[in-house]
Amino acid sequence: MSSRNLTAVELREAIASRRIRSVEAVQETFAQIDRLEPTVGAFISLFRDQAMARAQDVDRRIAAGEPVGALAGVPVAVKDVLCTSFGATTCGSRILEQFHAPYDATAICKLLNADAVIVGKTNMDEFAMGSSTENSGLCKTVNPWAPDRVPGGSSGGSAAAVAARLCPVALGSDTGGSIRQPASFCGVVGLKPTYGRVSRYGLVAYGSSLDQIGPFGRTVADAALMLNVIAGHDRADSTSVDETVAPVDDYLDGIDEPVEVLRIGVAPAFNAGADESVRAAIDAALDLYRNAGAQIVEIEMPHLDYAIAAYYVIATAEASSNLARYDGVHYGYRTPDPADYVEVYSKSREEALGQEVKRRIMLGTYALSSGYYDAYYLKALKVRNLIRGDFVKAFETCDAIVMPVAPTTAFRIGEKVDDPLKMYLGDIYTISANLAGIPGISVPCGLDENNLPIGLQVLTPAFSEARLLRIARMYEAATDWHTKKPAMVQ
Ligand code: GLN
Repeated sequence: MSSRNLTAVELREAIASRRIRSVEAVQETFAQIDRLEPTVGAFISLFRDQAMARAQDVDRRIAAGEPVGALAGVPVAVKDVLCTSFGATTCGSRILEQFHAPYDATAICKLLNADAVIVGKTNMDEFAMGSSTENSGLCKTVNPWAPDRVPGGSSGGSAAAVAARLCPVALGSDTGGSIRQPASFCGVVGLKPTYGRVSRYGLVAYGSSLDQIGPFGRTVADAALMLNVIAGHDRADSTSVDETVAPVDDYLDGIDEPVEVLRIGVAPAFNAGADESVRAAIDAALDLYRNAGAQIVEIEMPHLDYAIAAYYVIATAEASSNLARYDGVHYGYRTPDPADYVEVYSKSREEALGQEVKRRIMLGTYALSSGYYDAYYLKALKVRNLIRGDFVKAFETCDAIVMPVAPTTAFRIGEKVDDPLKMYLGDIYTISANLAGIPGISVPCGLDENNLPIGLQVLTPAFSEARLLRIARMYEAATDWHTKKPAMVQ
């Protein structure tokens, strides 16, 4: 049996019951990587020997009847923004190209404790700033569905790896859509959990009040399995939520049970900004829910029009502070020949940070500077509060909100690189969930006229991931979009 077409849920069962050895699954993973990675470019680093050794160990323990974890022997890829004590942690930046973290992020520890086999670290927009992975300072990733198109971003490498069947599941991070949007562009499932559901310890910070780690998979159940492994309170991250306040569910349990009473909120005026093919796919999804007994209700989200403006002030403000630590002294690259200590800072940053990162540091520093703080940063925080309020109000009359993930399908490589504002505007549907801290999922829901995947976004109230996954699974169970593969995978 080929392990490549199995989902993570199926593969872990096949490995646990010794129908497939983890070693075989990992070998197949690397064979597929050898075949397609030269075209796709999903990975920044690979851990062949280490992965094989872990797989052998898992196989040995299973053969000996020893207990193993929930992802025992399953190949997993992780975005290179998560600190690992092995290999480099680059964040897609030349400034961290040689950086070796001294510890594992909590999400990495949890994967390892669950006996997952980490095969490599994936490409991303530098410091997770971008929507196409074109801002990576290290390598280029293409969309497996159309190699002249972007995979989305910033977690483009993880999404492309899962879409090209290089591995069944992966981790990414989502500050303003960086899991959901590349999932949508690559035709896979991507879940951004509630802020605080997953520990951010060891996740290199971009916008700390918005960042959240989450999974990619080909199915909703695989996203649930991954969330089971990584969710939970962590003493090392005080923003991870106390489980007595918000208990962690078993997200796989009951995932196939349709939600009986379901009111889906839509904001028609808001969705009107999407391409025709995207709108048609979302409308078809709403029909499907309606036929399954859901009630579709109209909601108003009066402040969503201001989400992009607020997000790009708040995220850049936080980034300007978070990225101050790359000073040529504490981490990574240092300019070789500084004239004085000021040049150690300025030249190290100038030489090793990319254009988009510099732009955002400047924007954020400006927004926080005295005299402008009230006009920009404080104002943006007020708008954030209003957006949060829009969701609270909407969830009084509906249980879930459905909207597109992105206004378009994957765009051409190079199409938006010279127009950052155009790139930012593509985040319109994803960033409000980060501003409000609520969970959101992207599920494959169609192919456009160019055979490019379209994503359906479902949003639910904070800490209701179990319900969110069931609602997404209702759609997935009634359609076959998630079974479609890019031509290169055949
Ligand atoms: N595209 C958004 C940005 O450029 C979101 C990125 C993210 O979620 N990390 O900031």
